[in-house]
Amino acid sequence: MATPGQGLTPVEEALARILADAQPISGADMLPLAECRHRVLASDVHSGIDVPPADNSSMDGYALRFADYAAGQRHFTVTQRVVAGAVGGPLKAGTAVRIFTGAELPPGADTVVMQEDARAADGAVEFGEGVRAAANVRPRGQDIAAGSRVVEAGTSLTAAHVGLLASVGLSQVPVLPRLRVAILSTGNELVEPGQPLGPGQIYNSNRYMLAGMLEDLGMTVVDMGIVPDDPEGTRRLLSQAAEAADVVLSTGGVSVGEEDHVKGAVEALGQLQLWKLAIKPGKPLAYGRVAGKPFFGLPGNPSSVFVTFTVIARPYLLRMQGLTSDLRLTEIQATAGFDWPKPGKRQEYLRARLETHGDGAVARLHPNQSSGVLASVAWGNCLVVVPVGKTLEVGDVVSVVLL
Ligand code: AMP
Ligand code: MG
Repeated sequence: MATPGQGLTPVEEALARILADAQPISGADMLPLAECRHRVLASDVHSGIDVPPADNSSMDGYALRFADYAAGQRHFTVTQRVVAGAVGGPLKAGTAVRIFTGAELPPGADTVVMQEDARAADGAVEFGEGVRAAANVRPRGQDIAAGSRVVEAGTSLTAAHVGLLASVGLSQVPVLPRLRVAILSTGNELVEPGQPLGPGQIYNSNRYMLAGMLEDLGMTVVDMGIVPDDPEGTRRLLSQAAEAADVVLSTGGVSVGEEDHVKGAVEALGQLQLWKLAIKPGKPLAYGRVAGKPFFGLPGNPSSVFVTFTVIARPYLLRMQGLTSDLRLTEIQATAGFDWPKPGKRQEYLRARLETHGDGAVARLHPNQSSGVLASVAWGNCLVVVPVGKTLEVGDVVSVVLL
């Protein structure tokens, strides 16, 4: 088993340690259903009703009593017409009912023959052979039984969950408060998009990418802006950020350079619990506490921000936000569409695109894996995981994190 570089914490160990340290947020707000997507359910929700509430037809056709058919009857007088939203009267023995998709079966009817399998003429209908008992009937409670749990506490609500909650008639549900995440961008060189670029300057891309990823998770971004590279300014903004939010994320300034002031500021205001991971890109990642609040110091290079956020900070923030499962993105096996000849001392996350070919999926690398190249992330749809010490050839099986 290959060992990571000296003094570097392996990715899995780092994740286990920080996740054990994550404290889920508490409290609950009743929220209208239309505002619940991306929010985390605060307690289990049970259904007060059966869905569907009554047996109904899954086809346009004719409803009958199967016992009549089983006794050999093939010719039926049509005595009623029941459309969706209407309720028919009891079925007279030996007769059939014209019925439409979604209409409740009249009392006494238990089977539906689809109209394509029936010959109707002059107020009567004739059925051929092969009609099965209870055919084309959606029984009461088939989707959800009254009293059963519809959605579990700790679930991040998707559009499908919201639809499911609507199907049991709920107009509001209890959700956890949105996690408040402060973000700050360190670097004298940074200017905001829309401003002219002066000599030595670059645009602040991390701020927008991070804010977007947090909002996609349903969290509230508290944007603390740009912090110049000086120790006092860094300390001041970090402590303001800790006061304003549940958790603080910074980018840049976390390496060992003379102009990197984040680590010192964290040590002055709280504790550094983890620093330097066996991850590429993103080695200088820091985790600790600032004025009692959890803190992640992400690296400065945009691809490193993306990878460390996705692999390390994201699951932690989701746990804080109250999620009980699916903290990590789905990882699948795919085929390498590239060679990777150099073994590394850090676990690498290569920016790649997964393409399906026949019955398999092939991962192709972005040609530029430099940590400063954000275009690789925007182009890709997955990260190929290359463990420490591993090399790859075209056709090898690789683990791929789906984005
Ligand atoms: P640092 O870790 O502060 O030395 O930053 C590493 C690299 O990332 C440097 O080239 C920085 O200019 C760049 N960088 C830092 N922060 C940002 C940002 N917010 N947006 C774009 N690039 C950044
Ligand atoms: Mg910097």
